[in-house]
Amino acid sequence: MEDDLIEKSVESLRHSKYTFAFTGAGISVESGVPPFRGKNGIWSKYDPKVLDLDYFYANPLEAWKVIREIFYDYFGKAKPNPAHSILGEWEQKGFLKCVVTQNIDNLHQAGGSKKVYEFHGNAQKMICTKCSYRFPADEVDFDKLPVACPKCGGLVKPDFVFFGEAIPSDAYAGSLDAARNADVCIVIGSLGEVMPAAMIPMEAKRNGATIIEINPETTNFTNQITDYHLKMGASDAMKILNDKLFSN
Ligand SMILES: [Zn+2]
Repeated sequence: MEDDLIEKSVESLRHSKYTFAFTGAGISVESGVPPFRGKNGIWSKYDPKVLDLDYFYANPLEAWKVIREIFYDYFGKAKPNPAHSILGEWEQKGFLKCVVTQNIDNLHQAGGSKKVYEFHGNAQKMICTKCSYRFPADEVDFDKLPVACPKCGGLVKPDFVFFGEAIPSDAYAGSLDAARNADVCIVIGSLGEVMPAAMIPMEAKRNGATIIEINPETTNFTNQITDYHLKMGASDAMKILNDKLFSN
């Protein structure tokens, strides 16, 4: 059964003129980044209100302490895994057009991907809420909270999407463009629970793309849009597909 699904997936990838990947927390779990949702997710330990924009502005110090712990003490140490690296190689080979990711962990770029549409922004970038100055997270002294702007002293916020914030317009436009042009979309490690991100694979399906889903779990996508569900971890599945597509 699984072998058959793998063969069908490989066939559709072989004939594809436009393949893109849509990724969620599941691809980064093997890198040690915990997912937000689910029973061992970050939101089972922390209160998600720290990422609520109104709460952040009203309680910047409290919010920053938790944000530092989750995103910088912990995420900061994560390294890309084979699933990230294979996607990076596929792009360099000209085989993969782009990655659309819900993740903010920068691991696609670290794994060699260049064209990455970050639907929810990137934790490795900072933005001043007063003057909009942007700078990398590695220039931040996390011993001094809340983080202040080096230009104007204003309150700095990580440049990822908080609750109540809009999706970055360039990422949104680029993702929709991929969804409308693709004939294959590989969905990796996304439960399909977060809107509007989940509409990207759905839009791809509506435009005729074959949906290959890689996830050990059944998700919101599985019964709605998935053509071939490879029920396994991201790295295992990507290694198998890569071997079949590119060996000899
Ligand atoms: Zn500033």
